[in-house]
Amino acid sequence: MNFSINSFGKLLSLLVVSIFVIFIYLLNDLFKQSEDLKQVEKNKYLMILKSDELRQSSDDLTKFARTYVITSNVEYRNNYYKILDIRNAKIARPLHYNRIYWDLLEPLRSQRHPLKNKSSLHYEMKKLPYTESQYNLLQLAQNNSDDLVFLELKAFNAMDNNKQDLAIKLLYSNEYHKAKEKIMLPIDKFLFSLARLTQNQIDSYNTKIDNLFSQILFLVIFSLFIFSSSLFVLRKKVMLPILSLTRDILSFKTGSNEIGNKSFYDDEIGMMSKQFYSMKKKLDEKYETVKQLSLTDSLTGIRNRRSFFEVGEGYVKLALRRKKELSLIMLDIDYFKKINDTYGHVIGDEILKKLTKFIQINLRESDIFARYGGEEFVVLLADTDANGALFVAQKIRSNIQDTPFINEEYLINITVSMGVKQLKDEILLRELIRNADEALYKAKENGRNRVECN
Ligand code: GH3
Ligand code: MG
Ligand code: MG
Repeated sequence: MNFSINSFGKLLSLLVVSIFVIFIYLLNDLFKQSEDLKQVEKNKYLMILKSDELRQSSDDLTKFARTYVITSNVEYRNNYYKILDIRNAKIARPLHYNRIYWDLLEPLRSQRHPLKNKSSLHYEMKKLPYTESQYNLLQLAQNNSDDLVFLELKAFNAMDNNKQDLAIKLLYSNEYHKAKEKIMLPIDKFLFSLARLTQNQIDSYNTKIDNLFSQILFLVIFSLFIFSSSLFVLRKKVMLPILSLTRDILSFKTGSNEIGNKSFYDDEIGMMSKQFYSMKKKLDEKYETVKQLSLTDSLTGIRNRRSFFEVGEGYVKLALRRKKELSLIMLDIDYFKKINDTYGHVIGDEILKKLTKFIQINLRESDIFARYGGEEFVVLLADTDANGALFVAQKIRSNIQDTPFINEEYLINITVSMGVKQLKDEILLRELIRNADEALYKAKENGRNRVECN
């Protein structure tokens, strides 16, 4: 998963746009194909209607010609000629002529089918998308109707010459039926061809539509796959790292410094987290250094007064609770001002450093040793009564007295005074210090280079 969130975003946007474009293209194609299919079905219906009109007009001509020769009613003969005139666009075509027209009586016929405009059947057929062979078949049927018209006019002529029997014979003759067949056979062939051709077209459109549906379905499944994969990637690369980072920030806030073993993706959030943890580590280290500095005396490197109080308070509380012995030694260099004045501050500082080391080697690991002020030191001795503390103090005092400070130029004798106090009635470290300080004061008063107990 080592790819950047930015390139993932770009790839995802590209995919979404591509899917959208393909989806629109497929939908548009689907819409077009289904519109074309509807048009094919509509055309099929219209073409059947027109061929039916041809067949119907031929049947109507036969019906009126026969009715006329049997009844001698000229009304039927007039209707016969009207049919021919409508078909050949000599008179206007009634509206919806292909529905029920001649079987309606006047005035109902004219009310329901007002005249439209002149339009021959030939012209009406030209408007529809017949194939050439289909058109030729219908044209053949229409041309063949001339033979029938010839026989019908011959029968009408017989009627004019009062030969009704001959007229009837002509219109029911074998020759008449043959002529009729010559019209109807091409229409039958046409209907057959139309059914077969349109069925092929419909089948091909249905196959195309089915294919488009499959493609759209595939695209939908692919989009769902992309969507769920993106969620998975976003969860792994964005949500979980942010959650883990937030958890860590909250735990840092409550004081925890635990970072643990972290692994990061090589992406923006991974880099950000890495930076955060390394920054946090550096800050922790700096904080530790600053904290250490704030608790250490810069000259001697031992605890300062603040640090002494921080730890010492705990020692006092613990000793009081457990009813253990605890003693404090307060130490002050005798006439240190004079030493400074005589040898200078640099030498004074050297003496302070050397003295610190010297005292330190006389103490235990558990003793708390700190520089309390300028040339004053304190030692807190756990599990030690006044006698024990006095012993330690005396040892330190005599060792210092016996060990002069020596460098290339000088040999300086140093002495210290100390006050000792064992924890008794005090409940605070401050009180213990004050009482030890009183003992120290006594030691100074009694001539210095000595230890007093309070
Ligand atoms: P006493 O025996 O009464 O303690 O006399 P003293 O001179 O030591 O007493 P005082 O408290 O008056 O003087 C302490 C001196 O310690 C004053 C100051 O010059 C010196 N001093 C304090 N801090 C330092 C330091 O860090 N370095 C040096 N060189 N001198 C210091
Ligand atoms: Mg002093
Ligand atoms: Mg002093």
